[in-house]
Amino acid sequence: MEKLARKQVQGLTPYLSARRIGGSGDVWLNANESPFDNEYKTSASRLNRYSECQPTALIEAYAAYAGVKPEQTLTSRGADEGIELLVRAFCEPNQDAILYCPPTYGMYAISAETIGVERKVVPLTSDWQLDLDSIAANLDNVKLVFVCSPNNPTGNLIKRADIVRLLDITKDKAIVVMDEAYIDFCPEASTVDLLDQYPNLAILRTLSKAFALAGLRCGFTLANEELINVLLKVIAPYPVPVPVSDIAIQALSEAGLARMRYQVLDLSANRAYLQAGLSMLPGIEIFDAWGNYLLVKFSDGDAVFKAAWDHGIILRNSPIPDCVRISIGNRIECEKTLSFIRNTLS
Ligand SMILES: *Cc1c(COP(=O)(O)O)cnc(C)c1O
Repeated sequence: MEKLARKQVQGLTPYLSARRIGGSGDVWLNANESPFDNEYKTSASRLNRYSECQPTALIEAYAAYAGVKPEQTLTSRGADEGIELLVRAFCEPNQDAILYCPPTYGMYAISAETIGVERKVVPLTSDWQLDLDSIAANLDNVKLVFVCSPNNPTGNLIKRADIVRLLDITKDKAIVVMDEAYIDFCPEASTVDLLDQYPNLAILRTLSKAFALAGLRCGFTLANEELINVLLKVIAPYPVPVPVSDIAIQALSEAGLARMRYQVLDLSANRAYLQAGLSMLPGIEIFDAWGNYLLVKFSDGDAVFKAAWDHGIILRNSPIPDCVRISIGNRIECEKTLSFIRNTLS
């Protein structure tokens, strides 16, 4: 059967998500999930009827939270579907390209590859910022430039002045896609206020991280109305199941937002605890962290990752040599992880 698949697809290696890698243990700090298992009730009646393509109440709730107009808001099955919609809507296969800056999130490349769109790679600088000169020199045929801030897996923010320069460089040529999957942990760093000035800006958001709803599959794209209307041409007719919008609306209610903000504070305190504890250990470098994860460099990162794995503490190894990404769990999980690493290194 494989031979019947498109050539492009035959050559694909599927994205190795934390879930697919597996592992066994009782401390799961590998997928940047929230440790909070919040309760929701859903009546989910009228399941005999199709859902609205873009449920009005959900769009209005997220637009209000993000500080944009409903016309500037699109919802999809996670931010991942937003990435795919952008590539499908704006890139001609075998002709156009996307550009991204590793080390960063893996799905930009995968969506492009699946659809047969060229990938241009301009690595981040040594301090994990944009190499604007190199990006400017590589914009031929580029329709989408993906920038992740806070960046996964490094954890840092991309400088706002550089994002503004990138938007200017790409004006009338390409769309800058800001991946703000972790922005709820540092809302002041959002670029949402730039939408008014830049029609070539699109922003990806999700309920998977700070809102503790990774299993719900609900994400958003924010952009100006014209860009949103292009995406609406390629989206599936019924992308949002009724129970999904039902629960997402509860998460975006006043009480839901208050709970999210409280949990963000709690996780930030745990992150500070883990940061402080790790910084007392020898031979470790800990990077600036703005999301619900820490990137830590060990003298032998693979050894730490494997030892933790064997001990039932599942972390994420990263493509950056000797670096391990640790999601911020609850306090007990952070304590277990810190004391395990302390014992391993001593
Ligand atoms: C988790 C993550 C996403 C995907 O979010 P979903 O809404 O769960 O699809 C997108 N971008 C980055 C950087 C992420 O870490």
